[in-house]
Amino acid sequence: MNKIGNTLQKTNHRPKIVLTADETMMSKYRWGIFVGFSSCMPRGIIPDWFFFNVWSPPTPSENGRARYADFGLRIVEASLAEVFGEDEVAVVHPRDLEHMVGSRTEIIGIGGHDFMGINPPTSEFVDMLNTGPPYNRVKFFELMQKPVMQEKTVVAGGKAAWQLADETTMDKLNIDYVHLGEGEITVPGMFKSILAGEKLPRIINGKEPNADEIPNIRGATIHGLVEISRGCGRGCSFCTPSMQRLRFQSVEHIAKDVKTNVEAGQRSISLHSEDALRYGARGIAPDEERVMNLFRRVASIEGIERIGASHIALATVYHNPGLLKAVSETCYSMLDQNWLGAQTGIETGSARLIAKHMRGKALPSPPEKWQEIVTQAFGLLDDNNWFNAATMINGLPGETADDVIESIELIEDLKGTLSLIVPMNFVSMRGSALDSDESFTMAKMTPEHWQLMGKCIDHDLKVAPELLREYKNTKDIKSWLLSSAAKCMADTLKKYVNQMKQGEPPTERREVSKWLNPEIPDLKITNHKSELSKFKTKSLLKPLNTLNLHFSKK
Ligand code: SF4
Repeated sequence: MNKIGNTLQKTNHRPKIVLTADETMMSKYRWGIFVGFSSCMPRGIIPDWFFFNVWSPPTPSENGRARYADFGLRIVEASLAEVFGEDEVAVVHPRDLEHMVGSRTEIIGIGGHDFMGINPPTSEFVDMLNTGPPYNRVKFFELMQKPVMQEKTVVAGGKAAWQLADETTMDKLNIDYVHLGEGEITVPGMFKSILAGEKLPRIINGKEPNADEIPNIRGATIHGLVEISRGCGRGCSFCTPSMQRLRFQSVEHIAKDVKTNVEAGQRSISLHSEDALRYGARGIAPDEERVMNLFRRVASIEGIERIGASHIALATVYHNPGLLKAVSETCYSMLDQNWLGAQTGIETGSARLIAKHMRGKALPSPPEKWQEIVTQAFGLLDDNNWFNAATMINGLPGETADDVIESIELIEDLKGTLSLIVPMNFVSMRGSALDSDESFTMAKMTPEHWQLMGKCIDHDLKVAPELLREYKNTKDIKSWLLSSAAKCMADTLKKYVNQMKQGEPPTERREVSKWLNPEIPDLKITNHKSELSKFKTKSLLKPLNTLNLHFSKK
């Protein structure tokens, strides 16, 4: 058969297993990794067409397969491909789902970081802005409404699988099984049983793999994200990675994943861990040699232009300034970059709350040194040209007004640093040590909380012009539009900042937003998927905008 024939044959092949995620997870976001936060934005701030075409355009596809995809989907794809073969597993953009699901397809797997739009910071953006439901929730429900979801066996998993682990919710959304936790070992066995027609419990708990049981990815990831470790080890009580065992991938494993990304045209790699500076560490102190070896190895891979770290810990920066400098100099001398970026967590300015909920965060120093650790680490990051996006948490269990005032003072001390500070409200997440505590909402915010919020936004608005400068100068119309939209949003926020800094809410509304808690639409028409597939399901379904997509008040 000639080349075209082969291509057609390949194009017509419909795999047994198709993996996807909602649209907000299947975009490279035009401004890069930090703009990915906007998947948490509520609807109604900018027009949908602009958001999904300019701000977060779909990742490109080849023969229906997504060229870049969420790292979690890629790992599941790799685990399944080892058992069923590469041709039988495809990761696809939701817009290609109907095209890629054929009569041979039996299982649709769905991954998600926040299916219902209730994790931080989505819940906070929705509650504060009150303009509509969050995009991630809207797009997830839209995905679940597709006719193929009623015809095939649907399995949901990923970070936010806990949000769906309830049989009533699963029934309404046409989800047959929910897989909780890590999937490398459990998911292939589960899919084998489904394909063999065996009866399984509907909610299945994953088993943690050892590092050498985690396969290499077979396709490129969004933002060139490559996992270097899993788990954290610092043990904060509100956090879910804190519950995972700390494991490190080998440098060769990481290099292979980087090369897979380079082959797909990625020039920028984000090394994913909870703290890149503790790669390979046996205790709390970094193993400098292993960290440097990793960065040198990745930087030497042909085709790489930039490296970033998804997260670093401020305490590691503070206690190891020499390592930060060495990593920075390696990247700046070996690559075409003069700054690095990472996310980090401040969470609070209160040493009392650090001691109560996250004692490990300051280690090897005691909690009382937390303010010094944060301010010094921000200074060190600035000195080494690191752009840093940090989170703060309002409403941790047991918080007092004095704790919030200490946070306000700390933000004051960070003035002038090139950083974004994202204030978030505490969300009680299943799987964390605080999962029985109540989440914090806007309705519970005190004047001190508003002051803190105002200070953080004020800080960010001062940094924004610096970040926007690059885009203002470009001649590309989409980048120009994007920069204008960002400026317009910043101008809108400015109006409210002074009010907040005085301790006043920006709105007279006192109840929580009606969009905060999702009301799950009932998308189920029949329990018998195999029977349903005999019918033309399209005619049985209502279009999304006629469904009862209301969201109840708390
Ligand atoms: S340091 Fe960060 S990742 Fe680690 S447990 Fe604390 S919040 Fe979680």
